[in-house]
Amino acid sequence: MSIPRRRSLDFSRRQPASAEALSQSARPAAAGPGLAALVQLAAAHDEPRCTWAEELDSVRAAWRAHIRLQLGAACEGHVRWSGGRAMPVLDNVEVIRRAHAYDGMDLRPLLLDVSAPTALERGDGNWDTALHGLGGLGLSASLAQLTDAFNQHVWPARAQPETRSKQWGHWCVVVTWAVARKAVELILPMSTDTLKALTWDMLAFRMSRSQIMAVWNAVQARHRSYALLPPIRGQGEYTAWARMLGSVMGSPMRLKFPIHKAVVAALLRQRPASVADNRNRLLTALATITCLRVSEVARLQTCDLWFDHFTGYGIPGFDGSCAVHVAKRKNDSVRKGHLPGIGRSADPELDLVWQLRIWLADMQLDVRDGCTKRVRPAARCPVCPPLFPKTRRGPGRVAVASEERMSRQMVSDAIRRAVGSVGCSGAHFSGISARKGGLSTAIQAGVEEVVLYLQSGHGPERAARRYMQLLDPTRLMETFQAFGL
Ligand SMILES: [Zn+2]
Repeated sequence: MSIPRRRSLDFSRRQPASAEALSQSARPAAAGPGLAALVQLAAAHDEPRCTWAEELDSVRAAWRAHIRLQLGAACEGHVRWSGGRAMPVLDNVEVIRRAHAYDGMDLRPLLLDVSAPTALERGDGNWDTALHGLGGLGLSASLAQLTDAFNQHVWPARAQPETRSKQWGHWCVVVTWAVARKAVELILPMSTDTLKALTWDMLAFRMSRSQIMAVWNAVQARHRSYALLPPIRGQGEYTAWARMLGSVMGSPMRLKFPIHKAVVAALLRQRPASVADNRNRLLTALATITCLRVSEVARLQTCDLWFDHFTGYGIPGFDGSCAVHVAKRKNDSVRKGHLPGIGRSADPELDLVWQLRIWLADMQLDVRDGCTKRVRPAARCPVCPPLFPKTRRGPGRVAVASEERMSRQMVSDAIRRAVGSVGCSGAHFSGISARKGGLSTAIQAGVEEVVLYLQSGHGPERAARRYMQLLDPTRLMETFQAFGL
């Protein structure tokens, strides 16, 4: 309204917006827009968006120059920028160690990057081997050394490496902002007022709602990892902050369709000649029926198909069924594992378990000698190949299965291609469509939530669920039955 737009990006102010500055800026709006302001507003609205974009570009350039100035001569020639960001972000924030402006300040908590998987995480469940590789500290070690070792190797596992890597990227936004706003000493711990100031700048740079919330998350997470009080605290406060942003900015509609049971049936009816197409359709059908996430599909090994699991209950009627061992689901914080089931189809043409057996045999993806899965289900098996590996050119330029596992992105692409092959529009589907499809099919068929949980592992971990075990796998098969295969 009467606040000039440029003012929001004025970096001459030393301190982040105080309560006083905030109330000042709120005053004209509270008084109600006068006629002149309304005319001004209408004019601003007509202003072509490309002028805004140009204006923002020049502000970004000025902002970058200002940051270089703050960092001083010691950093000149060492500063790199991260590309394609709404708000300028240093690609190498550690460069600020060189700046004399921060001499005497302990920058370690600000610059600690724990995104890389730790040695114990790389062990993927084989943690004792990894620990052995690290070597012991011995009897002479001080408590501080033990704490350091714990902090380095175990503490980061509070979040998944991928989450940590994203959070680090968003934290770099905060550090860069702090350099520009001369607020480096104010970001850890960060006051609620400082977070408000940061958020105002993010809005001014037209960062999206999801980007802003990702930065908030990174700030909150870093506080928690140092046992500091985060700027957004109190029950329900985070939700209130998110709602505030949503009501101002709106939230984009994410339209990714669930995979319908008819699509699963169509996929199981296909008999493609290409190895990759065959893999993609089996992978999609399996992921949908067992409600898997792409990361869970990518991790599956051949020894995760437990063909004998349900017959082991000693109850007749489960021949030809199969449990899919999911070693670690997203919210399975204790690696308890999860065993969704695939039943035997009424239509033999659509029998996924049988088709998976043929896939294993044709691709020579057997369970190998020395397989450790049944004795150590939480650990990655060191000898067996992935269930859905990448393909490579074999003899005679024929595609064969490799020993390499697919990435999450490749699994997502495979799902999109598979549904595309039976007439779905690939643009409306992604990796999440499989899990969504399994959950929606079960819910539509009226599968009870506690039973569906055994198949999908959805929602937060609850004590009662952890102890829930079916006496008879019949009910577990309800999700599979909902597909009507
Ligand atoms: Zn194995």
